[in-house]
Amino acid sequence: MEKFDVVIIGSGPGGYVAAIRSGQLGLKTALVEKCKELGGTCLNVGCIPSKALLTSSDHLMFAKKEAAKHGIVIDGARADLTKMQERKNKVVKTFNSGVRSLMKTNKVTVIEGLGTISDGFRRPRHNQRAGKSFDQIVQRRDTRDRDEKHRHSHGECAGGIAVREI
Ligand SMILES: Cc1cc2nc3c(=O)[nH]c(=O)nc-3n(C[C@H](O)[C@H](O)[C@H](O)COP(=O)(O)OP(=O)(O)OC[C@H]3O[C@@H](n4cnc5c(N)ncnc54)[C@H](O)[C@@H]3O)c2cc1C
Repeated sequence: MEKFDVVIIGSGPGGYVAAIRSGQLGLKTALVEKCKELGGTCLNVGCIPSKALLTSSDHLMFAKKEAAKHGIVIDGARADLTKMQERKNKVVKTFNSGVRSLMKTNKVTVIEGLGTISDGFRRPRHNQRAGKSFDQIVQRRDTRDRDEKHRHSHGECAGGIAVREI
């Protein structure tokens, strides 16, 4: 069974940034993602696609309402929703492959599958579906937990991420 120093469940902004840092620190790192594409909510259905579509609507509003004030005549400006979606999908894909190549650069092994933490926190973790086991986990923490006491009892914290040895 392949062993890792650190395993991170979830490839959203919390997960992939932690994976990059862990790789940079020289730890043998795995990133487990249940979805086909990396990047989580932000890249796939949240921040990135919504801003891509907002940019398109912004351009349309300029063409319809503002351009004439600048002496620019744009007749018949209208939305082509299929094209807008295509552009948005292209933006998302670019970011998806960006994250994937960052994983490669930082020697992070990407595992597609559902990550589970078995047997509480005291024994090595097993991802039975992928046949992997782990000695460390990275867990997203609520920012309110980031006090000295927490740091002391849970290991080193950075930006809401705690890494602890078990
Ligand atoms: C429409 C929309 C617009 C947004 N716009 C902005 C914005 O402009 N700016 C901003 O800062 N934030 C924005 N957000 C919020 C932002 O998307 C989230 O704050 C951010 O994605 C949280 O990152 P995360 O890594 O914690 O979780 P997520 O991005 O949700 O990633 C979690 C990942 O873990 C995976 N996962 C979960 N459980 C498992 C498991 N057991 N095994 C394997 N994989 C698992 C999921 O598939 C997912 O890929 C927006 C959100 C939405 C919905």
